[in-house]
Amino acid sequence: MAITDQEFQKIKSTIKDFIKEEMVSEEKFDVKHTFEEQLPYLEEKRNKVRSLGLFTPQISKEYGGLGLSLHQLGQIYEILGHTFYGLYVFNCQAPDAGNMEILMDHGSDYQKETFLKPLLNGDIRSCFSMTEPEFAGSNPTMMGTIAKKDGENYVINGHKWFTSSADGASFAIAMVVTDPDNPNPYLRASQIIVPTDTEGFKLIRNISVMGDVGDGWNAHAEIRYENCIVPEKNLLGKAGEGFKIAQDRLGPGRIHHCMRWVGECERMFDMMCNRALTRELAPNKPLATKQTIQNWIAESRAEINASRLMVLDTAKKIDEHGANSAKVEISTIKFYVANVLQSVLDRVLQVHGALGMTDDTPIAFLYRHERAARIYDGADEVHKARVAREILKSYSK
Ligand SMILES: Cc1cc2nc3c(=O)[nH]c(=O)nc-3n(C[C@H](O)[C@H](O)[C@H](O)COP(=O)(O)OP(=O)(O)OC[C@H]3O[C@@H](n4cnc5c(N)ncnc54)[C@H](O)[C@@H]3O)c2cc1C
Repeated sequence: MAITDQEFQKIKSTIKDFIKEEMVSEEKFDVKHTFEEQLPYLEEKRNKVRSLGLFTPQISKEYGGLGLSLHQLGQIYEILGHTFYGLYVFNCQAPDAGNMEILMDHGSDYQKETFLKPLLNGDIRSCFSMTEPEFAGSNPTMMGTIAKKDGENYVINGHKWFTSSADGASFAIAMVVTDPDNPNPYLRASQIIVPTDTEGFKLIRNISVMGDVGDGWNAHAEIRYENCIVPEKNLLGKAGEGFKIAQDRLGPGRIHHCMRWVGECERMFDMMCNRALTRELAPNKPLATKQTIQNWIAESRAEINASRLMVLDTAKKIDEHGANSAKVEISTIKFYVANVLQSVLDRVLQVHGALGMTDDTPIAFLYRHERAARIYDGADEVHKARVAREILKSYSK
């Protein structure tokens, strides 16, 4: 049964208070402050969220979640986006949230019991291993990682990178080629669950990203699969369904990303306004008196408002008609909001001057991390091309 608006407003305000009082006021962004070091603190916060009954909010009631619509969930993601670990503390962070979704939709009873259950409980983490250094991720039908059937097993060989959060994860969902000769390139790949303690699963390194190697959940790994043997029962769905399953995960996933970015923008916007009012260029002449700064504030306000409305509108369309009917909207918000985030981050950094470059505020941390927003889950150019192609269809009759 769907929750009432009154119940939803109560959940929203509880989460808002929690993020403000328990997290924003205490957060640390120093690149030297590792995920591992923060784990006990994050676990303490997770326990508080559990006791509020708000852990894993994105999941249906059947699986122990809140049973929110995507439109409601988007509003929650915005609130969680005010702080970098907000989603993690509520157990709705990427890539685990996407893996939970595909396991719920496509997992066997065995897979749900073994992999989904501990993931929902927040006892383990996972990763999604698709992109390869040797092939353009923008065309995922070109992949070199092969899983060969051998009796009751698959033997995987290949090279992946940017497998986010692989460090410390219990399993990877790997996208692998199982039928290289299929004339339809979209039927060549499958998704297979690979426990990370399987022999032949080799985490080569956490890749240094803009000076930050990161660790644990907050890192991106290079992985080699070397004669990595997994049982056939670890195949997700049927052989050849890899792209179909990947597609299912992208619609809601992009709402999650975009609304998290809207939350990050709001946080940065607050910082920009506060700094503009308090930094004086001369007595009683704060930055806020300068027209350039005023323009940045006005432009940011308009862009953030537009982003929120566009994303929630897309979420509503997915809720009512399914992700397939909202293809154009999903691609539009992906590139639009990623670019709004970049603009807002750039402006807030500029307003803070040298302070913006330091790790004494969350600005530089987000600036480094979120440049990637225009690349992961489809680069801007790929989404723009898709939007234009779909629009032009209706003109070329
Ligand atoms: C921080 C981060 C986290 C990531 N996490 C994961 C993860 O967890 N799992 C995973 O499997 N992958 C992950 N990725 C990889 C990501 O999905 C790929 O980087 C992305 O799909 C792009 O592929 P590529 O890097 O090979 O770029 P390429 O495909 O080589 O493209 C390079 C550039 O070419 C341009 N381009 C591409 N196609 C077109 C086109 N049709 N028209 C015009 N220009 C075009 C774009 O500007 C693009 O940025 C992550 C990446 C980053 C940066």
